Amino acid sequence: MIESYLKAGKIVSDIRSEASKMIKDGTLVIDLVNYVESEILKSGAEIAFPCNVSLNEIAAHYTSPANDKLTIKAGDMVKLDLGAMVDGYIADSAVTVIADGNIDENYTQDEINLHEEIQEASAAGLEAAIATARAGVEVSKIGAAVHEAISEYNLNPIFNLTGHSLEQYNLHAGISIPNYDNHDGYILEEGQAIAIEPFATNGEGIVNDAPGHYIFSYMTNKPFRMKSTQRVLKYIQQNHKYVPFSGRWITDEFGERKGAIALKQLSGAMAVYPYAPLREKEGCFVSQKEHTIIVEKEGCTVTTI
Ligand code: MN
Ligand code: MN
Repeated sequence: MIESYLKAGKIVSDIRSEASKMIKDGTLVIDLVNYVESEILKSGAEIAFPCNVSLNEIAAHYTSPANDKLTIKAGDMVKLDLGAMVDGYIADSAVTVIADGNIDENYTQDEINLHEEIQEASAAGLEAAIATARAGVEVSKIGAAVHEAISEYNLNPIFNLTGHSLEQYNLHAGISIPNYDNHDGYILEEGQAIAIEPFATNGEGIVNDAPGHYIFSYMTNKPFRMKSTQRVLKYIQQNHKYVPFSGRWITDEFGERKGAIALKQLSGAMAVYPYAPLREKEGCFVSQKEHTIIVEKEGCTVTTI
């Protein structure tokens, strides 16, 4: 089990480093997403969730739909969040990169300096969390450490996003790791796998649903009158029963029209759960840094370092 967690972590870490180099002016988000997902499969691991690439005020849960034209601009705050599974054991990790290139058309130097501070703040939050994590610690203590580290930059954590426990084939296994002291007295135990993911922002620290659904999870079997919808549901049950999947994977398989209609019907009936992208207020910026760790008696092992 530990070996699988470590193997998944190494795969995610290597792909994260390579993919980060693609984050620059003019890169199509869909090229980045396709690169990450195909590299995970090439490594022999499974994809634990669609590669998320969330820009600027979007904190999480964006992945490209088919034929996505969304393009990264120099100076953009780009969150790359990826996950791989080995025997069902998951590595989940994210990094924020300020896109390389000539910023002049998009941002002032002062704005870029702010972007860099926001980027550093989530990294400092994660570092503080990792220094705090060990068996016997309350999860709220980790949240307090994150909040304190981010506050030193005069920035806010995202209060309504959390890290999470991981179990075999289960990305969100029930325990939440807050990004502030929420007084959750749950105590970490040796051997638990958790993903810690501080977000920092110059906004108020609350994200809300943005339009569109690009990521989905299977929920339950239901009958549908439309044959193509029934077929899509069967396909999801066979291929994506345990961890989130991309709408793009469905439209690639069934065609854009059929796929989109099916996902709409399946979501409407709650046979699948549609995740909305999560965003801060317009004009704000959000950074994220995430590692997966295994809780130890005297600290933790970071699998995605
Ligand atoms: Mn993640
Ligand atoms: Mn996560």
